[in-house]
Amino acid sequence: MELELQEKIGTYSIFTQVGQTEHEQIVFCADKATGLKAIIAIHNTTLGPAAGGTRMWSYQNEADAVNDVLRLSRGMSFKNSIAGLNLGGGKAVIIGDARKDKSEAMMRRFGKFVDSLAGKYITAEDVGISTTDIEYIAMHTKHVAGKPEYMGGSGDPSPVTAYGVYMGMKASVKKVYGNDSLENKKIALQGIGNVGKNLLERLVKENAKVYVSDFYEDRLQDIIKQYPTVTAVNLEDIYDLDIDIYAPCALGATINDDTLSRLKCNIIAGGANNQLANEKIHGDLCKDKGILYAPDFLINGGGIINVYYEILDNYNRERALRHCEKIYDNTLKIYDLAQKDNTNTQTAAIKMAQERIDMMAKLNAVR
Ligand code: NAD
Repeated sequence: MELELQEKIGTYSIFTQVGQTEHEQIVFCADKATGLKAIIAIHNTTLGPAAGGTRMWSYQNEADAVNDVLRLSRGMSFKNSIAGLNLGGGKAVIIGDARKDKSEAMMRRFGKFVDSLAGKYITAEDVGISTTDIEYIAMHTKHVAGKPEYMGGSGDPSPVTAYGVYMGMKASVKKVYGNDSLENKKIALQGIGNVGKNLLERLVKENAKVYVSDFYEDRLQDIIKQYPTVTAVNLEDIYDLDIDIYAPCALGATINDDTLSRLKCNIIAGGANNQLANEKIHGDLCKDKGILYAPDFLINGGGIINVYYEILDNYNRERALRHCEKIYDNTLKIYDLAQKDNTNTQTAAIKMAQERIDMMAKLNAVR
């Protein structure tokens, strides 16, 4: 079932919202001593334990945090399914500024909350959470992945996420331009954090013409120093460039009425989660405007694929990368399906992901 952003806080009801999204369980975690305020959302465990990273962000209000975790965890159900993983969908958010409010104690307390779910939810990194934080969480639970390599973990998943996004982007370029070269393609890359900077490295190597924006000026300056051919643009100006590809690698909901009236591009392919502000409206709007949208949960699955091999044990990065490369063919398959069904690419990708969940639900019912 579709999920819409709840804009009128006055009419807000969490049970109505959770009823719409069909989540299995939402856990509110509060700890006065450490200042922890977290929400863990378990969307669907048909395919296996709910897995998805933890995000730390300074949400404007608690309803925004709830909304984010519900949307993100639902996205994980589809992401894990379409990647062929035996994992359900879950996600956690911690309310606070990752640069100011985070502490060892807070992360360790969060680890205890994750442990209390006894493996129903497996956490990892997302925005605002580092491998050091994962190490603290791992002191109190084994239900955590993306651990540092020196702990036997798979390390930071974002290079593999970026590799998958790169695969999805190249498949999209092939669909639109007939070959998958990124040479001289004009690409607007929004957000040069963990995923964005790893993606940028690949784009620069392939001689794409890249424009970047980031919320943090210091990050932007470091990137410009490192890659002199890259152009920095202001936060808002990124939507007004004349480009081939818009690559959102920051936060979600950047594909909306306002930005779609401004974007001049043929492809949207990036690593951010929940890029469509409202998938009921903006998937179709992309299609109507002739913009090929690479569904986020389809092409940004590299991180969870990487983490999956850590969860299975005997982590092997080569294996994770080979699995990640399947994103290229899967993306082309979704474009064919969308064309065949005369639907938008988001709807086609959800259909494919849901089919696998439904198939497993039937299989699980057989004793
Ligand atoms: P990050 O925190 O390392 O980077 C995000 C960057 O975006 C930061 O540098 C931040 O300053 C910037 N940013 C925030 N708002 C912005 C705006 N309006 N305009 C421009 N820049 C802005 O996070 P990340 O791990 O790189 O994740 C980026 C996105 O990819 C998120 O949506 C995340 O959920 C998604 N994702 C990440 C992974 C992963 O492996 N890290 C996997 C799948 C999806």
